[in-house]
Amino acid sequence: MFVLDFICSLSLPIDIISFKGHDMLAPFTAGWQTTDLNPLVIEKSEGSYVYDTNGKKYLDALAGLWCNTLGGNEPRLVAAATKQLNTLPFYHSFWNRTTKPSLDLASELLEMFTANKMAKVFFANSGSEANDSQVKLVWYYNNALGRPNKKKFIARTKAYHGSTLISASLSGLPALHQQFDLPAPFVLHTDCPHYWRETEEEFSTRLANNLENLIIKEGPDTIAAFIAEPVIGAGGVILPPATYFEKIQAVVKKYDILFIADEVICGFGRLGTMFGCDKYDIKPDLVSVAKALSSSYMPIAAVLVSPEVNDVIYSQSNKLGSFSHGFTYSGHPVSCAVALETLRIYKERNILESVNTLAPKFQRVKQFSDSPIIGEIRGTGLILGTEFTDNKSPNEPFPPEWVQ
Ligand code: PMP
Repeated sequence: MFVLDFICSLSLPIDIISFKGHDMLAPFTAGWQTTDLNPLVIEKSEGSYVYDTNGKKYLDALAGLWCNTLGGNEPRLVAAATKQLNTLPFYHSFWNRTTKPSLDLASELLEMFTANKMAKVFFANSGSEANDSQVKLVWYYNNALGRPNKKKFIARTKAYHGSTLISASLSGLPALHQQFDLPAPFVLHTDCPHYWRETEEEFSTRLANNLENLIIKEGPDTIAAFIAEPVIGAGGVILPPATYFEKIQAVVKKYDILFIADEVICGFGRLGTMFGCDKYDIKPDLVSVAKALSSSYMPIAAVLVSPEVNDVIYSQSNKLGSFSHGFTYSGHPVSCAVALETLRIYKERNILESVNTLAPKFQRVKQFSDSPIIGEIRGTGLILGTEFTDNKSPNEPFPPEWVQ
């Protein structure tokens, strides 16, 4: 990243080079970078390409942050946003008031997600908010059931679930915890499913046993939910080994622990199935989606809630009162209108067929696996990650000082 930025700043005209740094406290950017370096300023997009302020063209291989699925200038999404802005730019969804696009989008999502039956949709604005909402939903559910001690979450090392206090706690990346007094004490982490050396089945059995041992050690009555991305994305594109989710789900079910699928990256076709849960036969109780939901044209995320969880929320609502959680922009009508149009486009253009046609070509990058500096190239569908190493072991990446 640093090398790329450096090359870009070399190509800037002299008057811009004399300007150093900028006024943003930028996300996931080192403080010295915002003060000592020029940022790479992207000005416009065209399909899969973006252009900086000097007109230099880049292939946006990450699709923004794994989210700009329909590319840079899809006129139908612009039209959907414009139409909604001209009709009703905003109304909220509190106190059983709402808008037509939010209702329609909720119905559409329930219809699209078929891995397990879902009953309700809660809208948020980001993947982090969706995962924070998951935790509150699960706590609400267990309080309603009179299980006040069943509150802990198990996530996995190397997972990424967001950067708010709770979602960063669920994430299993040390950089998100150090300096922020995280993870919160109610979050435990179990193994990352990155197999190596053993067979996939042996590895999956070992990880399921480790999970079970952790649950027993903590006390099954204290564990509320397990959260997982079908394929770990930002943590390094880690695919579940054979039988992993089958064995993990059996353990989770045995101890009456809810399964939360974080589909923020995998959802809407990236793996070649509409959801990661379809690909790996995951039957979640709760699901988080975001990113490709609106092809990132507007911020929006959603939590899908199973009938079992919803029934408890419904039946206990007289006792507990309203579900007092939500955001000003939960179900923002413009975001929902854009998301609805995005989902229509996925259907009309048969997005799964496109992904599955392109995937074998994309995955050909794996032919470079033998390179002496590549430990492993992992991927499926339209997700791919390369692990660089100096000794051919994916478990021993380059020393951090090499990649500063
Ligand atoms: N979950 C996963 C799997 C993600 O990849 C991300 C973002 N990369 C998030 C949650 C958080 O989403 P956001 O950045 O929209 O808060």
